[in-house]
Amino acid sequence: MAKDKKTSSSTHHFKAETRQLLNILIHSLYTERDIFLRELISNASDAISRLNFELLTNKDLLDPDVEPKIRIKINKENKTITISDTGIGMDQNEVIENIGTIAHSGAREFLDAATKTGETDLSNIIGQFGVGFYSAFMVSDSIEVISRSFRMTDSAIHWISDGGETYTLEKGTRENRGTEIILHLKDDASEYLEEYRIRQIIKRHSDYIPYPIYLNENEEQINRQTAIWRQQPQSVKEEEYKDFYNQFTLDFKEPIGHLHLSIDAPIQLYGLLYIPSSAEPNLFSERKDYGLKLYARKVMIQEFTKDLLPEFLRFIQGVVDSEDLPLNVSRESFQSTKAIAQIKKILSSKVLDHLDNLKSNDKEKYETFWKEFGFFIKEGLASTGEYDQELLSLLKVKTINKITEWRSLEEYIQNMVDNQKKIYYIISEDENSALNSPHLEIFKKQNIDVITFTDPIDPFVLMRINKYKEHDLVNVTSKDLDLPEKEIEEEETQEQNLDQNELNELMTFFKTTLTDRVKEIRTTNKLVDSPARLVDLEGSPSQEIQKAYRYLHKEFESPEKILEINPNHPIIMNLANIKGINPIRDLVIEQLYENALIADGIQPNSANMIKRVNQIIEAALKN
Ligand code: ADP
Repeated sequence: MAKDKKTSSSTHHFKAETRQLLNILIHSLYTERDIFLRELISNASDAISRLNFELLTNKDLLDPDVEPKIRIKINKENKTITISDTGIGMDQNEVIENIGTIAHSGAREFLDAATKTGETDLSNIIGQFGVGFYSAFMVSDSIEVISRSFRMTDSAIHWISDGGETYTLEKGTRENRGTEIILHLKDDASEYLEEYRIRQIIKRHSDYIPYPIYLNENEEQINRQTAIWRQQPQSVKEEEYKDFYNQFTLDFKEPIGHLHLSIDAPIQLYGLLYIPSSAEPNLFSERKDYGLKLYARKVMIQEFTKDLLPEFLRFIQGVVDSEDLPLNVSRESFQSTKAIAQIKKILSSKVLDHLDNLKSNDKEKYETFWKEFGFFIKEGLASTGEYDQELLSLLKVKTINKITEWRSLEEYIQNMVDNQKKIYYIISEDENSALNSPHLEIFKKQNIDVITFTDPIDPFVLMRINKYKEHDLVNVTSKDLDLPEKEIEEEETQEQNLDQNELNELMTFFKTTLTDRVKEIRTTNKLVDSPARLVDLEGSPSQEIQKAYRYLHKEFESPEKILEINPNHPIIMNLANIKGINPIRDLVIEQLYENALIADGIQPNSANMIKRVNQIIEAALKN
């Protein structure tokens, strides 16, 4: 330490890592420069909070009655901005300790990450770290800190540095308690001498700082200060919720819903969450990423916090604020804190509850929600196991009995026929092919409703989900349909028009024509209007997996199937009547097989098919 006796100022060297951070900040960050003000304001706000805490037990301090406030002064002539607060202040040792070293984990982790990623990526990661005071060197040639501690015995201290190797300390002149930070702006930072820029940054980053912020000599407070989410829900007007949503998202439509939380246990928590008006991201939105805005003690910690809700709820927008989170914790350490896990659990179940209430209480609104965000609910069902029952209860489906209406699984269950225990569904490319599928004929005949799943994500959902409450979800193509009792009675009474010998003979013709394209030929009583259909072999991959593979464009050999024929269908009966070798019968068998493929959404070779169909037409016209 070099001491100049005349002025009693002394020169100190920054610690090595502080210099390193300063270097990085000064030389590599331009795009995120605005955040320096957020950092200085939150330091000021912290300093006032700490003073308030001190005041709880100690009245014997400097200026006990002074108003807690932050003031920003712009001096265009000197090209300075001064940020002053009436907080706890610092004495000489504290200045050396706090400003001369990087005491805080945020800055240290930032440094680590900075060295790892290489300097070009820094602007992406700076927002995740509380780099704090030093960020002011991004916009300043030199900085002065004049501070006076709350302790009666201490005098003011004056710290000056140009962000180089050293800083100087001397006695300061300041009568009142608190800290004053004077930034001597760089030439390329003169934008910060404009009032509107300062207001803009405060609106964006520090609007909800819990102490008033004033600009210049103006006594009009420029931050909002009272956080709407910290008010009691019953005291906030609908209009205010909407206003906040509009400001927050820059989406000027009405949100589908909002959820205001104020919770004390197991963790203290405020939250204001919105279901946006639509799933399409707003082009003009300030929010370029998803995630909740996280405040701890009203200081904004992270703009896009992804750890507070499961990923499938990422469409939710809003703010979460907790007194129980530590300030200045880096993103990495955040995720692993117990507090974050607790908050995530609470928020997830509150959001799902809220949606469930919406479903029960406002059918129309819920349908709007479903059309916009149903995909996310399905994504949750396809990807996690944690909320299966809740998400299934939120699911809306269309069914063959009323294909234009959305129904819940609960409504499906209420409309089950006597003795029906299972929930039946069909997976297909679109509603029309679902409605015309041969697999549905027996269901239509017995008046059993069937859910149609036509979204690409549906097979992925159904690969995981096979039960809702006590009801199995069963694919109509599956072997064990387990239809209600009625089926058996009908089976007994159903008379067969063809005798068994004729039928066996026909099945042999099928077998010789189709050779190994089908594993087995057999008759079925599950078809009504269609002559044939394909069903899976015992143990072959389910239709869900087959579809999923097809959507993923994975190479997937279609598994061998069983061809079931309807012995009471006129085509089958007429085919059985053709005796001996007959090329038309072979063509018809080929075509019946390909028709069954098409009904299941599989495209056979169309050139071959056109040729064949023409041959069949030709033969038909001859007779
Ligand atoms: P952080 O805010 O992440 O702790 P900073 O580099 O911003 O890191 O600040 C370092 C420390 O300097 C703070 O923890 C605080 O103790 C002290 N400090 C900074 N600004 C002020 C202020 N306005 N009043 C009192 N102390 C301050």
